[in-house]
Amino acid sequence: MTYQSTRNSALRVQSSQAIMNGISAEGGLFVPCEFPAFSHREFAAMAGESYISCAVNVLEKFLTDFTGRELADCASAAYSGEKFGGEHPAPLFEYKPGRFIQELWHGPTCAFKDMALQLLPHLLTASVKKQQSKDTQVILVATSGDTGKAALEGFRDVPGTKIMVFYPEDGVSVLQKKQMMTQEGGNVAVLAVRGNFDDAQTGVKKIFTDSETGRRLAQSAMSFSSANSINWGRLVPQIVYYVRAYCDLIKAGKITKNERFNVVVPTGNFGNILAAYYAKKMGVPVGRLICASNKNHILTDFINTGIYDRNRAFYTTMSPSMDILISSNLERLIFDLCGSDQKVRDWMAQLSSEGRYEADAPLKEKLAEGFWADFATEEQTAQVIYDMWKNHNYLCDTHTAVALHVFDKYREATGDMRNTVIVSTASPFKFTANVLGALKREPQTGDEFAMARELSALTGVPMPEPIAGLAGKPDRFTGVFDVADMNRAVFETLDM
Ligand SMILES: *Cc1c(COP(=O)(O)O)cnc(C)c1O
Repeated sequence: MTYQSTRNSALRVQSSQAIMNGISAEGGLFVPCEFPAFSHREFAAMAGESYISCAVNVLEKFLTDFTGRELADCASAAYSGEKFGGEHPAPLFEYKPGRFIQELWHGPTCAFKDMALQLLPHLLTASVKKQQSKDTQVILVATSGDTGKAALEGFRDVPGTKIMVFYPEDGVSVLQKKQMMTQEGGNVAVLAVRGNFDDAQTGVKKIFTDSETGRRLAQSAMSFSSANSINWGRLVPQIVYYVRAYCDLIKAGKITKNERFNVVVPTGNFGNILAAYYAKKMGVPVGRLICASNKNHILTDFINTGIYDRNRAFYTTMSPSMDILISSNLERLIFDLCGSDQKVRDWMAQLSSEGRYEADAPLKEKLAEGFWADFATEEQTAQVIYDMWKNHNYLCDTHTAVALHVFDKYREATGDMRNTVIVSTASPFKFTANVLGALKREPQTGDEFAMARELSALTGVPMPEPIAGLAGKPDRFTGVFDVADMNRAVFETLDM
């Protein structure tokens, strides 16, 4: 299996090169040249196997330049033992007949980013070996919250890697800050930046592309690498849990072979829902893909009108991981649906020059055929958290609540009563103030840990260990840097 770029379909690379490079030189994203499919027999066999063996089956289809042994080692390192609470990493919960919530937040940082970021470091180091590079990989991440912590946990103490995370000093939640300041591991560094997320992100991009920095790094046998969500090595692990959901539904006798089910995904950068689309291409009988957005509903508008327009206000919401106006992975879907790198280049050029593009008629039709989209307001999101607790004794986070609201709208609009899997992307304890506020019907402020204890006492739902354990942990990383000093901070951290 080879990979091409969404902006140059003549290019051909192996999966290890796609993972090592992260992004293609001309700015496109790597995608497989064809999509492998599972047979009925393979699905039936997987239904009786573990999550890890299911992961190996999916990885083997896509990463054909790796040996089965290498992939098995990577998958075991990622998902075995206590990392995901010693349970199924992605369990289904049926809160009402035919309505299943798939919980993807049992990993070390309590958000679904762990599903991919626990595996990526192992795929990356194996890829680097395959590409015959001996360099230590230095991972630079700018984060607005969830990604940084998940990347730190994924790369911590992975041989051959170092990771540095930059976050805006006042731009993340108290709990997210604590999670990063107390990070353990011998190869990690966390730096607060005076500025906002964009400042941190721009600073990281500058370091990445500075040729003098690159030269100094090479002299010390190091090179930069990315754990960004456009890396193919982050997308392929996400296909696994959709395959697993189908297998678990079969195993539990909830659906019959090949019976279609719908999937609802709370969406930001379009990575998670794209993985569901890819799972469908591989033979998982997914019906409609329902794309749920918050008040920043640029994707709702795109799927419903074919017009992508980022010239609009940006809102901060109680589901911050979906506060996004540029959904990078959408480019992969568009390439898949229209099959033309020329069109992708034109539309992406329009997006960067005018902030807007309009799909052509065939693409609009295909979008409407496979997808359905809507959004939830802040009030609606809070109402769902309240209702789910009151009616189903189920405590959900703000992102999951957005998905549940849009799912209700879908049922009402279409009458489609098929079985449905709603993807749950974070633990409610990661967004405690808003979840507690929704239950008590008034805004909450104060100490995050006190609020988390109150939420736990109120609902009887235990606080996840990774969050409970933070309270007593000493801060390791307290340095704050000006944007102008980020480069120097990198050199100092790397002892150069
Ligand atoms: C990242 C994130 C999302 C959005 O996922 P995408 O793959 O970017 O669409 C949704 N919920 C949570 C909790 C997240 O951390």
